[in-house]
Amino acid sequence: MQSDIEIAQAAQPQRIDAIAEKAGIDDKYLEMYGKYKAKVDYNLLRDNEHTPGKLVLVTAINPTPAGEGKTTTTVGLADALAKRGKNVMVALREPSLGPVFGIKGGAAGGGYAQVVPMEDINLHFTGDFHAIGAANNLLAAMLDAHIHNGNQLGIDVRKITWKRVVDMNDRQLRNIVDGLGGKANGVPREDGFDITVASEVMAIFCLATSITDLKERLGRIVVGYTFDDQPVTAHDLHAEGAMAALLKDALKPNLVQTLEGTPAFIHGGPFANIAHGCNSIMATQMALALGDYAITEAGFGADLGAEKFLDIKCRLTGLKPDAVVVVATVRALKNHGGVAKDALNEENLEALEAGLPNLLQHVENITQVFNLPCVVAINRFPTDTEAELKLVEDKCRELGVNVALSEVWAKGGEGGLALADEVVRLCNEGDEAGRGADTFQFAYESDLSLREKIEAIATRVYRADGVDFDAKAAKELAKLEKLGFGDMPVCMAKTQYSFSDDQKKLGAPRGFRITVRDVKVSAGAGFVVALTGNIMTMPGLGKSPAAFKIDVDETGKITGLF
Ligand code: ADP
Ligand code: MG
Repeated sequence: MQSDIEIAQAAQPQRIDAIAEKAGIDDKYLEMYGKYKAKVDYNLLRDNEHTPGKLVLVTAINPTPAGEGKTTTTVGLADALAKRGKNVMVALREPSLGPVFGIKGGAAGGGYAQVVPMEDINLHFTGDFHAIGAANNLLAAMLDAHIHNGNQLGIDVRKITWKRVVDMNDRQLRNIVDGLGGKANGVPREDGFDITVASEVMAIFCLATSITDLKERLGRIVVGYTFDDQPVTAHDLHAEGAMAALLKDALKPNLVQTLEGTPAFIHGGPFANIAHGCNSIMATQMALALGDYAITEAGFGADLGAEKFLDIKCRLTGLKPDAVVVVATVRALKNHGGVAKDALNEENLEALEAGLPNLLQHVENITQVFNLPCVVAINRFPTDTEAELKLVEDKCRELGVNVALSEVWAKGGEGGLALADEVVRLCNEGDEAGRGADTFQFAYESDLSLREKIEAIATRVYRADGVDFDAKAAKELAKLEKLGFGDMPVCMAKTQYSFSDDQKKLGAPRGFRITVRDVKVSAGAGFVVALTGNIMTMPGLGKSPAAFKIDVDETGKITGLF
């Protein structure tokens, strides 16, 4: 069997200007980055009137660490729609170097459903993340310089919340002391690095609707607090203009193509725990402007990624999805049914059935809580047996859940035609209960208190009995309400493996409570983050990281990426 990178390297991609032409992008908006990548100027959205196409969100059940194939399904579904003669665009996140060199591997799809050039997309790409890191670190440098040069604003160095970032899994930098070396070398303080994708600049970048909006959001970033507990912003440090200047090219969506020549935007990549986990709004809006169908993915399972896509991104931008695809795998369902991760390749119908409630709860959340039409895509793995696939399909049909087998990993767009037909039907006719973009509801309304919003998500989406707030979280929530951040939506930082905050509670757990340990405001992004458990904002590398296998030969050909 060929690896992802072997399949991708065997493909003969079209030149990106031909893809742009197919997408209807006027040459004057196209900025070439070599033969197979281009950036598209955001003025395309400003200069032209567009009727937006149908928006399709791809999400998933609670995954296993390997991922259940959301990106693969997004790409394959788009190729299937293209095969049906539809004008379709993809919008996806850019991969971070942390997971690429860590355990997860690349994030450009898999098998015959990939975006190319996958090596570039996975490694540096067009440099957006470096620009985001630079903007983040400029603010950090300006903050520390301000303190060094007299601290006019009265910033309490023990209350600084802004960290430097690097796009690498580097646990050594998690907690550091810097500013050492005496009076001329800064003010010593405890500090630490985050991975770039965990930075608020990344979240802002992905929620900004224009350069002006980007600048305003950057200005609102809270970097820390004064001795009398007043927030200090990037605007107070006069940083937002220079930060936005560093980001002006990065903010232009990156155009690439799928293996079958479907145009795809890959742009921005915030974490789905500390941030909202979706590609940039610029890319989504451009995909909607150019395509009759725009297919996009939200990170993690639907309890996190889809919830944030719907409650944060859609709320802040007015977007409404026309249909939602919930990706499920036989493997992960067996895991939810009690099978250990190393035994997932063996047929086990009892465990599979026992794991189904996880899928059903996600479907119920999409249809009952968010009131949107939904289809389950069973992402077929080579190890799945016919009996297993039939069981999932039969059970879904029995319960009135729309379902389609997806074989895009093995067959490309051809393997996704049934899914594509169902998506077209849902987008144009709505589901049997009349659900469609117009029936969309949030899980909570903006005028609830922050506490009530967290409780609404926990009880309605996770099905927890309630929420416990640690003293630190309760104190911080009160402070944030007082400072006027109470109107913001909430961004839950929780494990992706379970509906609960305990990664070992698989399936559809009941009789549990969620514990919120801390909260923090991302004022520029426009949400308040609620942290449950220990959320890693700077991962580390394991004993044998994916980096061991990655190499490049004399001709410049990359191997070992997956
Ligand atoms: P997600 O976006 O949900 O994290 P991906 O689409 O990135 O998942 O897929 C995760 C990994 O699983 C990738 O390495 C991909 O090649 C692999 N994969 C996805 N679908 C299949 C499948 N049907 N059969 C085999 N491998 C698959
Ligand atoms: Mg993905």
